[in-house]
Amino acid sequence: MVSKITVVAPSSTANLGPGFDVFGLAVNAFYDEITLTKKKAKGVSIVTEDDIPTNPDKNTAGLVVKNMIKKFKINDGIEIIIKKNIPAGYGMGSSAASAAAAAFAFDKLYKLKLDGNALVGFAGIGEKASAGSIHYDNVAASILGGFVIVKTDPLEIIKIDPPANLRMCIAVPKLKVPKKKTKVSRGVIPKKISLTSSITNLSNATVIVVGFMKKDPDLIGKSIKDVIVEPARKHMIPGFSKVKENALKAGALGVTISGAGPSVIAFSKSSGDLKKISLAMSKGFKSAKIDCQTIICKPSIGAKIKK
Ligand code: ADP
Repeated sequence: MVSKITVVAPSSTANLGPGFDVFGLAVNAFYDEITLTKKKAKGVSIVTEDDIPTNPDKNTAGLVVKNMIKKFKINDGIEIIIKKNIPAGYGMGSSAASAAAAAFAFDKLYKLKLDGNALVGFAGIGEKASAGSIHYDNVAASILGGFVIVKTDPLEIIKIDPPANLRMCIAVPKLKVPKKKTKVSRGVIPKKISLTSSITNLSNATVIVVGFMKKDPDLIGKSIKDVIVEPARKHMIPGFSKVKENALKAGALGVTISGAGPSVIAFSKSSGDLKKISLAMSKGFKSAKIDCQTIICKPSIGAKIKK
């Protein structure tokens, strides 16, 4: 009988500009590692050396496991060991990767054979522990890999394999982020938007989907334009306008905030000058006296068992 399993799940970028709460892309920049072990004593415990909550109700992985234990009437207790590699609170889907790995691992440990939509449904609940509300864009990308579109009511995830030559450069600024950053940055988004803005974003979002279907990084890149959320959030990222301008000048196909930020993501092709783009982004942050880490990466295939 299997009593223990280890799963890794990748970082992800949500929104891709106009696809707020709908688009996600798994990126191979960082991976979280989760080990679930069945225990005789009931209850969920969390073991980690990282600076995240160890109360299961406040930890995204803990919340997922608690929910799944209840739903599937499991009689064991479970220990969750979390090794974080994805920086938490930087818009790289860190809290989501833990939730994604936990749902994926639980399914395998108890041989539940849940489909992708069900796994994403359980993982999404985990986001309540960090963002304050359920959202599926990051967890869907982290579990399934590639580019995902979240359709709700009922939940259905559409996955599209990205172009083989799509590349990204992510700049993670060394800023202090608030504990409930996603909640804070959701609070600045306008409650009402104009029809014109909605048409612009809808048009760009649609072309992004077509770009993924046609495996065309240029089409994707030039449609990474968001006139609703980015303008409302960019003031929270010192140097953002310069970072974006520099990256575009250096040849990036499109640039936007990664998820709720403060990381900034630039899209390119394998033939593109990614080193030039990463340097340009660093210089942009430097202009606001901020250091950053830049990572050149590509789409990830999603969560997997660590052998
Ligand atoms: P991110 O974009 O990295 O997901 P969030 O702001 O959504 O950023 O989440 C980070 C917050 O979630 C932090 O306050 C962190 O303490 C909390 N959190 C709870 N559980 C986890 C977890 N397993 N991994 C990372 N962060 C977690």
